[in-house]
Amino acid sequence: MLKKILLYIWQLPQNLLGLLLFACYNNTERFKYRGKLYQRSNNTPGSISLGEYILTGSRYQETWDHEYGHTVQSKMFGPLYLIIIGLWSLQEVFFDRDGDYYDDFPEKQADRYGGIVIDENGNRVSTYVGTDV
Ligand SMILES: [Zn+2]
Repeated sequence: MLKKILLYIWQLPQNLLGLLLFACYNNTERFKYRGKLYQRSNNTPGSISLGEYILTGSRYQETWDHEYGHTVQSKMFGPLYLIIIGLWSLQEVFFDRDGDYYDDFPEKQADRYGGIVIDENGNRVSTYVGTDV
């Protein structure tokens, strides 16, 4: 329990931002997946992982697992997560010239931590076999 509290505080900037966004978009579907709280809405254009909170517009497990991978990064980087991962992702969304969002460091790492692999056809697929889908 103490470890959980300390981890929450370690990730406080993104946890507070996640809580704020959850409050702003509260008329959506909420569920727990891999121990994290997800909020899904068709009106959410992409996905964002903020500490313990994930907002997504996706119904796909690959996206949820990728976002779970970002929660692992959040634990690693703590208060620097929004600067290292957040700013990188934002610039990728707005300025990505090569068009392959998942090829750069933070996204590849999130895929790896979330259990996403590339299959023989070049598709990103989930390898997570937990029962909490
Ligand atoms: Zn990502």
